[in-house]
Amino acid sequence: MADASNNTEYDITIIGAGPGGYAAALYGGLKGVKIALVEKDRRLGGTCLLRGCIPSKAMLKTGELRLQMSHAEKYGLALKGDVSIDWESTVQRKDKVVDGLVNGLTGLMKSRKVDVIHGTGTITSPNTVTVDGREIRSRNIIIATGSGTLYPTDVPGGDLPNVITSDEVLDADLTLKRIPTMPESVIIVGGGTVGMEHASMFNAYGVKVTVVVTSPRALRLVDEEISRRFSMVVKNQGIEIITRTDVVRMEETGKGKGKRLMVTLRNADSGAEEVREVSHVFWAKGRFPYSQGVGLDKIGLQTTKRGFIEVDERMQTAVPGVYAIGDVVPGPMLAHVAMYEGEVAVDNILGHYRAADYGAVPDVIFTIPEIASVGMQESEAKERGIPVKVTKFNFAALGRAQAIGEPDGLVKMICDPGSGVILGMQILGAHASDVIAECTLAVQQGITAEELAHTIHAHPTMPEAVAETAFSQILGAPLHANR
Ligand code: FAD
Repeated sequence: MADASNNTEYDITIIGAGPGGYAAALYGGLKGVKIALVEKDRRLGGTCLLRGCIPSKAMLKTGELRLQMSHAEKYGLALKGDVSIDWESTVQRKDKVVDGLVNGLTGLMKSRKVDVIHGTGTITSPNTVTVDGREIRSRNIIIATGSGTLYPTDVPGGDLPNVITSDEVLDADLTLKRIPTMPESVIIVGGGTVGMEHASMFNAYGVKVTVVVTSPRALRLVDEEISRRFSMVVKNQGIEIITRTDVVRMEETGKGKGKRLMVTLRNADSGAEEVREVSHVFWAKGRFPYSQGVGLDKIGLQTTKRGFIEVDERMQTAVPGVYAIGDVVPGPMLAHVAMYEGEVAVDNILGHYRAADYGAVPDVIFTIPEIASVGMQESEAKERGIPVKVTKFNFAALGRAQAIGEPDGLVKMICDPGSGVILGMQILGAHASDVIAECTLAVQQGITAEELAHTIHAHPTMPEAVAETAFSQILGAPLHANR
């Protein structure tokens, strides 16, 4: 498809090979588009594959197993003694999982005839990306440069070696160099998704975990009832959550293996300070978009105050032919959103108009227990004055949940009271990350509670909880419980 007469080598040059960039390349490759994929890292995969979604879930799995084994007798298993974590083997397993997927992705690029170019890409004109002095000409450019981790540069002691982030825990090039042995105790600063997922993981490893959040509750973007119930469950697991508090300074004491961090916490309401001693501080106060140094100024593109690149519904920037997707654009910083946006951009580049639709974006928090949601929350409906009917179903009344020993959890369904159309769903509990798929389809397709309730659900399975909340919507009670 590339047009030699127009002096373009490629149809699309994609800058960044994270989920946004690699999905756009794979999708375009299937459609016969000639693509150059520029990546500054030595490996493909971006944040998600190299230091995010995948390595974090690989490490979490080890913790889940340990936690389950600590309740082995509940399942009739006679396990003697404590199941301890072998940190080095756990890290090596995580790296092996990532290696396999990176190799698979690299092979796929070859089979889709995508030219992978390693180096830092800078836009020098709407049709040119320069990589180490080499000019790559293309009809279109997709900026998929993603985001980076915020470090506590403005907090005294923020540069101490035992102050770590998800990069140090998860990136194969860093983990054992920066964290040679398992932390003994961690203060996690920030109660968002990354902070709480690591809280669950470290706690399941047997590490003493304290979470410090400035807001009145952890996971403040999650449905309030679900996040409060979650906080109770994790408190019972041994995680301490300190709210309305921030870290004001960190100091190092001791030497070698006895090295510790003295962390000063300050309460936002009373101003009272207290000092805690831990082996590590895990900083999880968010991420920033990678829009600096991409050459946006060369094509007259400006960013928002926070550095995001604004796009229209087709993912096109203010410069025709230049698109942007993923973490570098405003919106949820999620791998599946980045992938979706990559496909939308490619379709529009190919002349098939497609508008990005964010009405049904599933959001999963891989904590123990998991949290998943899609669509409207009860609080949002209240704020916007939208009348809704809310029904709930507790996992405790579900056969499968009892059979697998996971009765802590619930499903919430938010419907339009007139039509019965499902507007949103939230789940707390085991396998929420899988169960949300059905809910996403329901919200995306605008189906009603009645249609969902009358869909045959395999028994015994966790998605039956979704059907039960739908029965409550149409009959006033679930089928297999009183309320
Ligand atoms: P990125 O994945 O950040 O990729 C951007 C790529 O661009 C990088 O490889 C970078 O090296 C490259 N790049 C940047 N600038 C240039 C340049 N000038 N030239 C060449 N290359 C460049 N999301 C989920 O959906 N599910 C999860 O479970 C999940 N878990 C996460 C856990 C953690 C700890 C973290 C930090 C994030 C997690 N995320 C998760 C978020 C997810 O990783 C991101 O939303 C996703 O990676 C964004 O994809 P992207 O392609 O926009 O950017």
